[in-house]
Amino acid sequence: MMFTRRNKEIFLVLASLLLATGCQSRYQPIETSAAQLSGPLGLPAESENAVRDGGVQTGNTDEASLALRPQENTGGPLGSLSAAESDPAGGEAEPSPAETEPTTPAAPEFSAADETVYVTGDAVNVRASWSTSGDVVATLNKGASVKRTGFSEEWSRVIYQEKERYIASRYLSAEAPETQAAVRPAAAEGEVRLDPNWKYAEFSKINSGAAMLYKADGANRKGITVCVNAGHGTKGGSSVKTLCHPDGTPKVTGGSTAAGATTATAVSAGMTFADGTAEPKVTLALALKLKAKLLAAGYDVLMIRESDDVQLDNIARTVIANNAADCHIALHWDSTTNNKGAFYMSVPGNSSYRGMEPVKSHWQQHNALGESLIGGLKKAGVKIFSGGAMEMDLTQTSYSTVPSVDIELGDKASDHSDGTLETLADGLLAGINAYFGQ
Ligand SMILES: [Zn+2]
Repeated sequence: MMFTRRNKEIFLVLASLLLATGCQSRYQPIETSAAQLSGPLGLPAESENAVRDGGVQTGNTDEASLALRPQENTGGPLGSLSAAESDPAGGEAEPSPAETEPTTPAAPEFSAADETVYVTGDAVNVRASWSTSGDVVATLNKGASVKRTGFSEEWSRVIYQEKERYIASRYLSAEAPETQAAVRPAAAEGEVRLDPNWKYAEFSKINSGAAMLYKADGANRKGITVCVNAGHGTKGGSSVKTLCHPDGTPKVTGGSTAAGATTATAVSAGMTFADGTAEPKVTLALALKLKAKLLAAGYDVLMIRESDDVQLDNIARTVIANNAADCHIALHWDSTTNNKGAFYMSVPGNSSYRGMEPVKSHWQQHNALGESLIGGLKKAGVKIFSGGAMEMDLTQTSYSTVPSVDIELGDKASDHSDGTLETLADGLLAGINAYFGQ
């Protein structure tokens, strides 16, 4: 085995040298290979980053698994990376000026492209740079499409939300998936009840009600299910308490439930707008508008509530969304009185909270979805509060295993006329489209 591997190394090093002498710009990858020589067990240094990446432990599809298998990189200029990296002696690698900056990989050499490509796995990371340590700006599911402007063996340069981003090339294909509807085994349209066998179902206290699943029926059907959760609207919900976190730890931020509490109201009643309208009425009105727009755009929709009352607490709503939808969007208005604008509840930057499952495996998805929704609202002309995010430890977030956001569309002083709700629904749809690369 060593013998064959060595032959391969020699071949690849020779190939690299040929490339290096043949074309000046090809020299870059060789410098990179020397720079990354110090990875553990001869693996590229990049694999250290990969271990830090949430995708590895959670089973999310991520480019990290590529980084952990350098031997699969054969051929092409990047193939030379593996050759030098997997030789701990480094004898054949040229001494390189890049050794003085070992933590900055050289830019991959991208071949120009101008094509639509499709994501081939679920929860594939979209990154700000061509490295597994680059910030994750979004995660895309199977079937999402992006425009590719360049590619190397490892990384593709894509345009995502009008910005240049990077996705591991192995998770992109120029061929459209056969039928996206086949991705998720078709759940029957109709009622979706809490299955007691679902993960975290046992933490719910109010769950005799049912959500409703609607399927898009046009030719544009995407095979993506959006859970629309009209906030509040559970009679008796405010007199029942449920665990804030599945592991029983206390809340890390203060909101309607104080920091340090281990239990929270199962479903609160919601606030009352300055004009006397109850929040649950308005969240329902917006949810119905969003449902219609999503169905018309080809999304399947899981509606948590379509009347004044549904007997599902926040945990039941979340667990149903986890099992029957690809994302979960809860609609709310805040209880301040200054018409401060829309924002989403982001996952607190608290190490114990972000270290707790299922938050640990999903917090980046939650925040990426929140950012997308705010981006869509902003484009629709909706007033945005501050940076568009406020850190909050919520029951919803604490139990979510799909991208999940509580979005606050305004507050007690905000206009909630029909026209405004139309605009809000348009903005949310734009944000959902952006998140799923549609
Ligand atoms: Zn609310």
